[in-house]
Amino acid sequence: MVGEIFAGASAFKSLADGVKALSEIKDAKRRSEVEVDLLGKLIALQSDFSALRDSKEAIEKELVKIKDWNADKARYEMKSLEPGVLVYRVKEVERGSEPPHEICADCYNNDKKSLLHAVAKGNGLTRYKCYSCGFDENTGTFIDPGPARGGSGDSWLGV
Ligand SMILES: [Zn+2]
Repeated sequence: MVGEIFAGASAFKSLADGVKALSEIKDAKRRSEVEVDLLGKLIALQSDFSALRDSKEAIEKELVKIKDWNADKARYEMKSLEPGVLVYRVKEVERGSEPPHEICADCYNNDKKSLLHAVAKGNGLTRYKCYSCGFDENTGTFIDPGPARGGSGDSWLGV
């Protein structure tokens, strides 16, 4: 980007020098050739300027996204869930009207906000899944439900 700016400044100076020199050219044919050359340089400069403007707009949008993410990022704190699964949980004071939730630690560290979904719960375990990176882990401490109740107790079919 910086190189493009210097190249653009150099091309602009070349164009300005050409325009200044144009008034000193007395030969009509030579003058016409220089005018065509200058026009070509002007069109190239307009194209470069347009590309630079597009780059600037894309960078500004990215900067806004980064600033928004940094502000959002500060709303979360790292938590360790049993047996040692790291997640980022929204701070209670920052939660507002949102329900309590966790976001994926790997995605967080890659500057991406991705909700962790509790896709299954039972026997003290909660299975969390991130649909962005594929994180899929059980958390919690397994609670043995004990022998099945009802039936003869010999098998789940009671036979
Ligand atoms: Zn993830």
